[in-house]
Amino acid sequence: MQSDIKKVLYSEEQIKKRVGELAQEIKKDYEGKDLLTIGILRGAVMFYADLVRELDRPLHMNFMALSSYGISSSSSGAVRIQYDLEEDISNKHVLIVEDIVDTGLTLSYLTKTLNSRNPKTLKTCCLFDKPARRKVDFRPDYIGFQVPDVFIVGYGLDFAEKYRNLKYIGELMPEVYK
Ligand code: 5GP
Repeated sequence: MQSDIKKVLYSEEQIKKRVGELAQEIKKDYEGKDLLTIGILRGAVMFYADLVRELDRPLHMNFMALSSYGISSSSSGAVRIQYDLEEDISNKHVLIVEDIVDTGLTLSYLTKTLNSRNPKTLKTCCLFDKPARRKVDFRPDYIGFQVPDVFIVGYGLDFAEKYRNLKYIGELMPEVYK
C-alpha cells in the first residue's frame, strides 16, 4: 500500500489535532441543543468515529450510504442514496459528517433531500474540501482541511476499496488511478 503513495499530506497527529479543533467548534455551536449526527458511509467512518468521541456530549448517531465513484477517480455526476435513514428527522438539529467535498454534487443533493424532510437545522461537516473542482455552489459549514486538486486516500478514503485503513492521508500516485 505504502508504495502507491506519492506523498503524505496529513499525518495521524495533524488529523487528530484538527478533528479536536472541529469538535470544539461544533460543541460550542450546539450547546444546550439535541444533536443528531449522520455519518456518510463508507469514507467518513474513521472521521465520524473520532469526531463524535471528541464531541464528548450527548448525541445520536445514524448513518447513510450514498453512491460513490466506484473504481473511477472522478464523479459520474449521478448521486444515489444506497442506504437511507429510517428515523424521522423533522424538528431535529442534524449534522452530516462527510469525508470530502469535491464537485459538491453529493452534498448538494443530500442536503436538498434532507431539507425536504423538515429538520430544525441542517449543517454539514467535511474533513476535506477540494474547492478547485466544484461544479455546483456548495460550502460545508465546518471544514477540516482545504486540499489541492490531487486524489487523496487513507483515514477512511479509498480508491477501488483500497487504502481506507491507512492512518494518514496520502496523495495517491497518478499512475495507480489513471
Ligand atoms: P462530490 O460529489 O463532491 O464530487 O464527491 C464526493 C465524494 O467523492 C466523496 O464522498 C468521496 O467518496 C469522493 N472523492 C472526491 N475526491 C476524492 C479524493 O480525492 N479521494 C477519494 N478517495 N475520494 C474522493
